[in-house]
Amino acid sequence: MEKEKAVVVFSGGQDSTTCLFWALERYDVVEAITFDYGQRHWQELEVAANIAKELGVNHRILDLNLLNQLAPNALTRNDVAIEHKEGQLPSTFVDGRNHLFLSFVAVIAKQLDARNIITGVCETDFSGYPDCRDIFIKSLNVTLNLSMDYNFVIHTPLMWINKAETWALADELGAFDFIREKTLTCYNGIIGNGCGECPACKLRLAGMDQFLLEKGAKI
Ligand code: ZN
Repeated sequence: MEKEKAVVVFSGGQDSTTCLFWALERYDVVEAITFDYGQRHWQELEVAANIAKELGVNHRILDLNLLNQLAPNALTRNDVAIEHKEGQLPSTFVDGRNHLFLSFVAVIAKQLDARNIITGVCETDFSGYPDCRDIFIKSLNVTLNLSMDYNFVIHTPLMWINKAETWALADELGAFDFIREKTLTCYNGIIGNGCGECPACKLRLAGMDQFLLEKGAKI
């Protein structure tokens, strides 16, 4: 039987690392793709490369510094503060970023003859990013298939689950400790449990606490 291949959009954070484990459980050949878009913390690329290496996954980093040229934002610029004002998109938002990432990943996936594309986008902790919505992913899936005359399937294992459930999924995949210790989600560039203060850390830690509490209650 022909080997089933998958490509994972991979940042080295909690969500995409959970997706990487999810893919490794399902597919024969898995490749991880990370984008270099001038991240505030260059460690992100190193963390991603290290995780891929440890898991024995083929990894490539694509240069997408163009993104910063298109839209200066708090993820790439030290002079833009990370903030999320009520009723507004957070300052880390970049219009179309996810759309562009998935489109570039698809070009590579087809070359690898990998039908499956996995992304950690999620509507549950929805920050208002339009291109993370389920309806957009489904629409893009159709567009990519038409644009390249190929039958991609975009998988979004985290789409409808919250952060606590994402930790539960990591646990099911036997990856809870790995993800807790080795991934980088923190906006201040601190690996593992992070700084505990930035919005990304608060979300991640609150989810972990909830998961551990619920798990403890079940034992
Ligand atoms: Zn942090």
